[in-house]
Amino acid sequence: MESCIVVGAGLSGLVAARTLQDAGVRATVLEKEEKVGGRMRTDLVDDGVFDHGAQFFTVRSDRFEEMVESWISAGVAEEWTRGFADPSGEYQEDGHPRYKGTRGMTAIAEHLAGNLDVLTSVKVSGLRRGERGWEVVAGGSARTADALVLTPPSALALVDDNGVPLPEEARQVLENIDYARRIQAGSRSEATRFSGSRTTGRRVSPKSRP
Ligand SMILES: Cc1cc2nc3c(=O)[nH]c(=O)nc-3n(C[C@H](O)[C@H](O)[C@H](O)COP(=O)(O)OP(=O)(O)OC[C@H]3O[C@@H](n4cnc5c(N)ncnc54)[C@H](O)[C@@H]3O)c2cc1C
Repeated sequence: MESCIVVGAGLSGLVAARTLQDAGVRATVLEKEEKVGGRMRTDLVDDGVFDHGAQFFTVRSDRFEEMVESWISAGVAEEWTRGFADPSGEYQEDGHPRYKGTRGMTAIAEHLAGNLDVLTSVKVSGLRRGERGWEVVAGGSARTADALVLTPPSALALVDDNGVPLPEEARQVLENIDYARRIQAGSRSEATRFSGSRTTGRRVSPKSRP
């Protein structure tokens, strides 16, 4: 494989593209939004930092730990907290580090996108498996590559709308993913980083740094 098109510049797409590029594959990332990050996107308003999706993350594998260490060294991620306040407001440390982007989660996505070929504001609408590999229609023009990586939550719809056959096992995995709907709101104050989001079954909570 010499070339690959990666659809989506969220964490999955950017890490996949980096991994492919490190392995010597020419990877092009196509992203429909103006900015990279997907559900790790941040908007900055004056001094306010608004994360649209993930606000922090934990590390549960050696491989991910290595990646996070490289983000910390690059200055785009930092340890946020090792615990939360109990109902009385007392900070309770549990020893497990949680990490965040230094200026919101976008910092990590932008760092990953740094030396990649990423095209934003390009929505992929068509897919076709041809003799020369994959043909991907985006923004009115077609691109070809030997391989294709789809990362959007809507990947199954994209595949089905274009009549691309999928192995039954893969189809079942994708069909079993349940995406919860969410309402998101944010507010800003001087010393506190507020980011409230609501997903079905998830609480709405201002998160202040203990
Ligand atoms: C409210 C909320 C809170 C969360 N909190 C946490 C948390 O605290 N900790 C944690 O670890 N995780 C959290 N998560 C989950 C985490 O954000 C996601 O698992 C992760 O960001 C998903 O990354 P991804 O790259 O797989 O998908 P996405 O980030 O969704 O990336 C897919 C990308 O594909 C693009 N795209 C879609 N369709 C097309 C198309 N046709 N053409 C081109 N591009 C397209 C999208 O614009 C997007 O950028 C949270 C998520 C939400 C929504």
